[in-house]
Amino acid sequence: MHDRDALARIPLVPSNTAPPAPAYPWPAPYGAAMFLSFDVDAESAWTSKDAGHAERLVTMSYGGYEARVGTPRLLALLDQLDLKATFFITGWAVDAHPAMAEAILRAGHEIGHHGYHHLLPDPGDPWIEEELERGFETLARRLGVVPVGYRAPYGEFTEGLRAALARRGILYTSSFRDDVRPYRHRLGDGAPGPIELPVTASYDDWMHGLSARFSPRPIFPREHVLSLWKDELDEVRDWGAMVTTVLHPQCSGRPMRLRLLREFLTYARSCPDLWIATGAEIAGNFRHHEAAGTPA
Ligand SMILES: [Zn+2]
Repeated sequence: MHDRDALARIPLVPSNTAPPAPAYPWPAPYGAAMFLSFDVDAESAWTSKDAGHAERLVTMSYGGYEARVGTPRLLALLDQLDLKATFFITGWAVDAHPAMAEAILRAGHEIGHHGYHHLLPDPGDPWIEEELERGFETLARRLGVVPVGYRAPYGEFTEGLRAALARRGILYTSSFRDDVRPYRHRLGDGAPGPIELPVTASYDDWMHGLSARFSPRPIFPREHVLSLWKDELDEVRDWGAMVTTVLHPQCSGRPMRLRLLREFLTYARSCPDLWIATGAEIAGNFRHHEAAGTPA
């Protein structure tokens, strides 16, 4: 049964009123970009669904794989390929696995904000700002990092969260699915918000490569995922646009998935027109052209 009153309250405007994404150039000699990013949820991926999972040790072990195996393996791969990435880490994962977080930072990668307990931001939730503050506090206390980038847990957003991120000085967010180039958010009151580096589900490894006992589903083999990732990348290169990866060490750090990722990233690196960069670098390029008045 539909709630007719609620339907009547839906505004008759686009939900995102940001202007079209400007076609700013990528740094020479590049014609397209890849935002290489990972989400490090560790066990908070599971406790955010049910805090009771903290006592279900095998459920927790899916997330524990990140610190024990997945993240070290991914760091080694990025080192071999001489690539720098952005790692969005939950505050809980940093508190529980400080050595893992320090290793990411020490390797020269960007650290982004990913909430504290990885709670999905839902309209009206009273703890949205508390999650935000606790995440900032943990990254500062444990790592001495003031993050400039934010990715929402479960990729959900509310207007209150967007405004709070702007107040806190966040330069860019990376959760929306409505473009293939960076754009600047417009807040509910019309003021400019953070820069958005949009994502797409096709580069979320969780969709293709993770199966859990209580939500079993088939996982997709190398050939399927490579064809998705390469086709998307090659078309985006033709468009002069960008792709954003959303990779998780508890998925892409598994042996078969890492082998696939190595092949994909090796291919991406072989594309001379492709700028593989961190979120801070891509948002910095946007801000540079915006400030310089580069025609959109
Ligand atoms: Zn996450």
